[in-house]
Amino acid sequence: MASVVQKENLRSQQLAKIKAIRGMYDILPEQTPLWQYFEAQVKSIFDQYGYAEIRMPMVERTELFCRSIGEATDVVEKEMYTFADRNDESMTLRPEGTASCVRAAEEHGLTYNQVQRLWYHGPMFRYERPQKGRQRQFHQFGAEVYGLDGPDVDAELIIMTARLWQKLGIADAVTLQLNTLGSSAARAAYRQDLVAFLEQHMDALDADSQRRVATNPLRVLDSKDPNTQALLDGAPDFYSYLDDDSRQHFARLRSLLDGAGIAYEINPRLVRGLDYYCKTVFEWVTDKLGAQGTVCGGGRYDGMIEQLGGKPTPGVGWAMGVERLILLLQELDLVPAELSQRVDVYMVHMGDAAAAASMMLAEQLRDRLPGIRVLWHCGGGSFKNQMKKADKSGASVALIIGDDELQQGRAQIKPLRGQTEAMTVDAAAVVEQLSKLI
Ligand code: ATP
Ligand code: MG
Repeated sequence: MASVVQKENLRSQQLAKIKAIRGMYDILPEQTPLWQYFEAQVKSIFDQYGYAEIRMPMVERTELFCRSIGEATDVVEKEMYTFADRNDESMTLRPEGTASCVRAAEEHGLTYNQVQRLWYHGPMFRYERPQKGRQRQFHQFGAEVYGLDGPDVDAELIIMTARLWQKLGIADAVTLQLNTLGSSAARAAYRQDLVAFLEQHMDALDADSQRRVATNPLRVLDSKDPNTQALLDGAPDFYSYLDDDSRQHFARLRSLLDGAGIAYEINPRLVRGLDYYCKTVFEWVTDKLGAQGTVCGGGRYDGMIEQLGGKPTPGVGWAMGVERLILLLQELDLVPAELSQRVDVYMVHMGDAAAAASMMLAEQLRDRLPGIRVLWHCGGGSFKNQMKKADKSGASVALIIGDDELQQGRAQIKPLRGQTEAMTVDAAAVVEQLSKLI
């Protein structure tokens, strides 16, 4: 017979609360106004530049990411959420948007003889160690342009992010790092010489870099290890391998950014994590968020569409991490104060007849003043109690209908902030009075 204790254990096990998965977070009602504000700012930038939204599924065939991102990258090697579906096909929760976007554009002929300027937004999934600014489900906004191979569009993509930083008020807190990765031929020649150099100094490299010499030697360049970085001072210089086309592309990009007044730092060791980049790569970084300082990164990936089976088509884009930008806004105290106000008018009423009249009035307000937010009190209760709730709601006025008001066909408007006196007005004049007050 199971003991009482065993039964109790069983019971508490059954009733144990289920929690969210590690590294995946709820965005609570208190935080969503800031998210919505941020999202609205980014969307308005995309509108201003004539970019169209695309929405892709969150799950794709695993092969899509292996073929585009590259087998020897951190993302594919150790960060993907991969599982077999019921049909035993290997599926992956998207770790980024670029590959899915290319897949979708190709599948629907969007790159056929035409230029596309696209944006997307949504959750991405990577199995990483959760910490500040690093989650397992996180959100990105991304921009991708297909069919343009010139540096002018690279400049446009960077300029639009700079405009966003201005709009959000964080322009002084982020800096632009810029590099070129050249053509694949230039990278291949450099890679050979870099490997030869690294192989002579294996003992001085950190463990990750030692592993990467064989799999992804360019990644050694952005190792965070100080000894490895010091050693790299003596490594072959990539710029001397650069092909003419990439050299000119980079020079033109720089002069366009100079013309637009956008400051940047050339960082010859910026290679970015993914295999698909060529020519332009860039990152916007901040020193206000600790180790997770990259808020936006991108570059050109002219070979990728072909690699996924399409006709050779140039591509270039960026992705920004929403959580990190939200953290930055909070860190810099740039959350607009009005975001905390969710309600403009709180409707207070006493008794059934007044409640019915008040409910009708609420609908009239929503018809005639669609911009104001009306919260109608539910659940009855004393006048004092309703007024307390009205105050707590953050509304700027309470609109009160009690017995007296009902009989007189009037309503009381009671400002809840500031010094303005309460007033009683005819029901017909409520809309006009409220639109003056709010
Ligand atoms: P990191 O070097 O920080 O790992 P990454 O190079 O892997 O970044 P990208 O693939 O370029 O990142 O993604 C673009 C942006 O998405 C990053 O600059 C960052 O702001 C954000 N991001 C990437 N991974 C995460 C994550 N696990 N949690 C939160 N944001 C992330
Ligand atoms: Mg990463």
